[in-house]
Amino acid sequence: MLLLDAYGPANSRASSGGETRIIRMGYGPDELYTRWAQRGLPLWREFSARTGKEFFHQAGVLWLGNDADAYLKSLYQVLGNAGVKRESLTSAEIRRRWPQLRFEDVTWGVLEPDSGVLMARSSVQALVGDLVSNGVEYSAAEVAVPGVRGKLTEIKTSAGDVISAGTFVFACGAWLPKLFPELLRQRIFPTRQEVFFLGPPPGSAAFRAPNMPVWLDRTHPDLPYALPDIDNRGFKIAFDRHGDAFDPDADERVIAPSSVERLHAYLRQYIPAMANAPIIETRVCQYENTWNGDFLIARHPELENVWIAGGGSGHGFKHGPALGEYLSARILRSVPPEPRFSLAAKQTEQKRAVY
Ligand SMILES: Cc1cc2nc3c(=O)[nH]c(=O)nc-3n(C[C@H](O)[C@H](O)[C@H](O)COP(=O)(O)OP(=O)(O)OC[C@H]3O[C@@H](n4cnc5c(N)ncnc54)[C@H](O)[C@@H]3O)c2cc1C
Repeated sequence: MLLLDAYGPANSRASSGGETRIIRMGYGPDELYTRWAQRGLPLWREFSARTGKEFFHQAGVLWLGNDADAYLKSLYQVLGNAGVKRESLTSAEIRRRWPQLRFEDVTWGVLEPDSGVLMARSSVQALVGDLVSNGVEYSAAEVAVPGVRGKLTEIKTSAGDVISAGTFVFACGAWLPKLFPELLRQRIFPTRQEVFFLGPPPGSAAFRAPNMPVWLDRTHPDLPYALPDIDNRGFKIAFDRHGDAFDPDADERVIAPSSVERLHAYLRQYIPAMANAPIIETRVCQYENTWNGDFLIARHPELENVWIAGGGSGHGFKHGPALGEYLSARILRSVPPEPRFSLAAKQTEQKRAVY
């Protein structure tokens, strides 16, 4: 087995190159992704235990909404049905437990106490190391897909090497539309997403776990979310609303001044304790959105031994273990496909439905 990556595992252009990613079980009414996240968490824990590294932090995940929020009501129900531990919290309880946050429009919340944060970059790099020590070959190389039909026998790297294989899997995130332009240019839409790390006051633990969980504010139109300070990188905050179209190879990853202003306005209103905190680090990453946020995990329609796995749509990281199980079962044991992951289900208009 050979693993190739153009820029290296969890590089700074890759979506998996971020410091941390949320693992939450809640997906509103969507049982499929709840089930996958439930399957993934013990596998992440197992990988941590096996490698002796802490890739999961059980910080808890707090959903913030209001009484009219049907997504949150369904989420509470689905988590209950799935046996996921969750607590319903009034706005008064939220204020009492986390006085550093001031969400005036929030009337209730749902806490997933067993969920939390995954260490993204370091876990992916550890995974590649683990694979290599178990006999997988790894090489840094950019590949192209030749214009053939039927069966793919070989691919070429940009360095001129030829690689033959029986089965090819392309899990190339936001680059998939470049590799398969005719198929995916209108089906995967990379967008620019900005992330901020803020410096808490010296000696303060108010923005660290267990004093602050991950939280996602559903009452604000820009869908802010935040992660506690882990590994002293700072309090991480970002907005889930899709940004502008983005080229993962060429575009610069510098935060726009208008975004800094918007962030400060948000902090002044909702997290006054952080209003004057300096921005100590920023990241510009890309989502690779399918039309509605469902993943694309399918056989290529014209190449019988080529598989495509991507369309993480801003929520894919946590699902790596479940996705790996699903894809290998599809390839090796021909298990029936999940229709939502098929190419046929991917429309060309952008209409987000999975959050
Ligand atoms: C700001 C931000 C926040 C997010 N938050 C969360 C979260 O909280 N929870 C969550 O679950 N998910 C989250 N996500 C989504 C998650 O990070 C992605 O779904 C996931 O990392 C995608 O992984 P991937 O392996 O498909 O793509 P990537 O990590 O982008 O990897 C693609 C790889 O393909 C390689 N490649 C590309 N073209 C070629 C080629 N021609 N030849 C060889 N190699 C190639 C690249 O070098 C790259 O390393 C977030 C994403 C962003 C951007």
